[in-house]
Amino acid sequence: MNKCFFFDRDGIVNKRKVGGYIKSYEEFEFIPEFLELFQKTEKLGFLKIIITNQQGIGKGLMTFDELNKVHNLMQFNLYQKFGFSFDDIYYSPDLANSGSKTRKPEPGMILEAIDKWNIDKENSFFLGDSESDAIAGERAGIKTILIGDFSENKANFVFSNYTKFINSFENIVK
Ligand SMILES: [Mg+2]
Repeated sequence: MNKCFFFDRDGIVNKRKVGGYIKSYEEFEFIPEFLELFQKTEKLGFLKIIITNQQGIGKGLMTFDELNKVHNLMQFNLYQKFGFSFDDIYYSPDLANSGSKTRKPEPGMILEAIDKWNIDKENSFFLGDSESDAIAGERAGIKTILIGDFSENKANFVFSNYTKFINSFENIVK
């Protein structure tokens, strides 16, 4: 069995684009703390998987092809920097009101990854910056971490900012 560190994308891997969807790699900007965290997860032997809602597709504001191009360039850049990249990327194109079983807070994408990658839930984590991330992780049966202005009971671990989380990372995942 493999342990896995699951990442939400917007606000965790890359900076959020306020009021919009990232339709090209020019709009994609890594969060510096993420780059540090990504290396730490690799060093500790975690699989690294993105779980992201991208309803811009469902709304017709971007295409599958545009999203895949952004992800391919992200992966290429990570590989150039570090010699490794994400092991897998799951996205849900579904609309919020669609009854989707994949769109967070539903756990569909996480459960699919757990099955495909033979993931050990006991030693796996979901990191996000929205309550729906923590709910999806909890429903999938893995430990949850939130970064942001949340009350302590919203996830297994809550940090007010990224740096505080990174400083506690080794203690949390050991
Ligand atoms: Mg987010």
